[in-house]
Amino acid sequence: EAKAAGRNQFCVYEERMRHRRDDAMELLADLREGLRRGQIEAYYQPRCSAGDGRIVAVEALARWNHPDRGLVFPSEFIPLAEKAGLVNQVGAMILEQALRQQRIWTEAGFDLAVSVNVSLRQLCEADFSALVCRLMACYDVDPGKLELELTETLLLESNPVVHENLAQVRALGVRIAIDDFGTGYSNLARLNEMAVDCIKIDRSLIGGLPRNEQILRLVIDMCNFMQVRIVAEGIETQAAADWAFAHGCHELQGFLYGRPVPVPELEAMLYSQREEDARADSARHLAL
Ligand code: C2E
Ligand code: MG
Ligand code: MG
Ligand code: MG
Repeated sequence: EAKAAGRNQFCVYEERMRHRRDDAMELLADLREGLRRGQIEAYYQPRCSAGDGRIVAVEALARWNHPDRGLVFPSEFIPLAEKAGLVNQVGAMILEQALRQQRIWTEAGFDLAVSVNVSLRQLCEADFSALVCRLMACYDVDPGKLELELTETLLLESNPVVHENLAQVRALGVRIAIDDFGTGYSNLARLNEMAVDCIKIDRSLIGGLPRNEQILRLVIDMCNFMQVRIVAEGIETQAAADWAFAHGCHELQGFLYGRPVPVPELEAMLYSQREEDARADSARHLAL
């Protein structure tokens, strides 16, 4: 009887796995179609200066406007795209949108850097740096206004193509950030050698405040030693923002400042910031 029950349970399990696999297959077919139809859209999340909360940069984050499922998040389709060899296409699409948008914002008088997430798989493509170069020229973007966000696993990578790509984009003047720092196993010596421009401290570390305050201090000290720009991710509360600022983080990113949003919503934030600046300016003039 116990055996039968076990078998039964196994069938339920098998059934569930089959469903999950079919679902993934369907999603993958949809993703191929979605890429062709341009359903992948970059949303933008503000990165704010720690001192005054002004938006100094935005991170482009991929969203998929699925015709039936609605908005699909990267946690659902990026791993799938990675496995199916489609992440390069997703990445190229987001990179192009972000650079096009950077040009538009520059023309509107906003001085904003854009950061784009890059999968290790993209860096394995021999022509990745050429793509970056071509798109930057196409949209006439100042290379210093583009930052590529890579994860720590990169530090363990031995593929020479990856390092050639990195050297080439850096030679163009593009900035490199290490994303989700503190979640993986970093090769600290390698990190130091690579001379990255920026380290983004993962939100799990920030979210552990004040319990893990000591660890965070250590990470920040290390970043300062390497003379990199420090971004604190996952800032959700004023207390976390205050802590990060007081302890020397340069930029803050998180729901406290804004979630990732489509272009018009991000622009509304930029224009309201500009209005505030103008108000503060005229108040200053009146006071004089
Ligand atoms: P990430 O690059 O570390 O991006 C930050 C993620 O944290 C975003 O999730 C963002 O919405 C979320 N986040 C930001 N602030 C807060 C906060 O205060 N609290 C909490 N709980 N979460 C916050 P999202 O947009 O779902 O992206 C997840 C991940 O998917 C990204 O993590 C990135 O690794 C990957 N991804 C997104 N777009 C792309 C892309 O175009 N290419 C590649 N290769 N990966 C991408
Ligand atoms: Mg990122
Ligand atoms: Mg991150
Ligand atoms: Mg993350």
